[in-house]
Amino acid sequence: MTGSTPIRLGIVGVGKIVRDQHIPALARNRDFELVAAASRHGRIDGIPNFSSIDELLANVANLDAVSLCMPPQARYEPAQKALAAGKHVFLEKPPGATVSEVDDLKELAHTMGVSLFASWHSRYAPAVEAARRFLTATKVRSAAIVWKEDVRRWHPNQAWIWEPGGFGVFDPFINALSIVTHILPPLHVTKAVLDFPANRDAPVAARIEFAGAGGLSATADIDWLQTGPQTWDITADTDTGRMVLSGGGAQLSIDGQLIQDDQEREYPALYERFAEIVRAGVSDADVAPLQHVADAFMLARRNVVEAFYD
Ligand code: NAP
Repeated sequence: MTGSTPIRLGIVGVGKIVRDQHIPALARNRDFELVAAASRHGRIDGIPNFSSIDELLANVANLDAVSLCMPPQARYEPAQKALAAGKHVFLEKPPGATVSEVDDLKELAHTMGVSLFASWHSRYAPAVEAARRFLTATKVRSAAIVWKEDVRRWHPNQAWIWEPGGFGVFDPFINALSIVTHILPPLHVTKAVLDFPANRDAPVAARIEFAGAGGLSATADIDWLQTGPQTWDITADTDTGRMVLSGGGAQLSIDGQLIQDDQEREYPALYERFAEIVRAGVSDADVAPLQHVADAFMLARRNVVEAFYD
């Protein structure tokens, strides 16, 4: 595609993140023209709406790309259909319910000569690149991730998130992993303890340990029942000081001194990146954060804790 022709985009799975982020980001991006939506119940005003991806693909002429924004358990089949129809695909995070699904989609995108984008929005938080620059220029000795938020505040009445493949507390924690896999040296999970509410199929809290080369170690303390102030912090002890990346990647401090604190623009940046890879004819579909989730589930000791009710 040439740089001047807008990419004709359809959105599939119209819900919270589409209304909060995708529609506003697309409204300000001249690289895209939002031409249609497909959702079983949700609608976007001012454009044609269909009830399934099949109808969308059959009825919209010259569609170039789709953004798939339904929960991860329902993403693989629509992604496969869109890629097989020759469309570029933007996957909301997490890009699939399993690593194999995403590997398969990468292969299909390559075969079809279209772009697949596994969007990791937290990687585009304002202080993440500054943190990466700091950490690549030093030796990291240890890291600690603390990711504690209130599920009732951020995910009210979202049944899918507690179902198999819904990830539970790993739905927010994979955002931390998307940053960690971008800024820290390679790590692998060595130990995990997952707390499952007695009435749910997905965890509400977890403690994870990681190891890397040269004695590098990391821990993660994850909780979905934190009311009051919310905590999304990554701390790294290094040869040149203590780095704290807080606010989910928004603020960076080194040895207590604030280095970066800019305004958040994650979704505008995601769509800029999607346009860039479509125009360049490449994919950007890193599964590393998803692999850590899979490894934690594989290694985990399971604790049953108090039942969770909305
Ligand atoms: P949501 O509002 O619960 O779901 C989005 C839409 O997907 C729903 O409105 C529904 O539309 C459709 N859907 C729901 N269950 C489905 C199913 N089983 N099969 C097919 N379609 C289904 O969820 P969301 O908060 O927007 O999150 C969607 C994705 O974005 C998740 O992967 C999430 O991790 C990611 N995300 C969310 C946030 C956030 O703050 N909420 C932030 C960043 C990323 P219809 O009923 O109309 O089909």
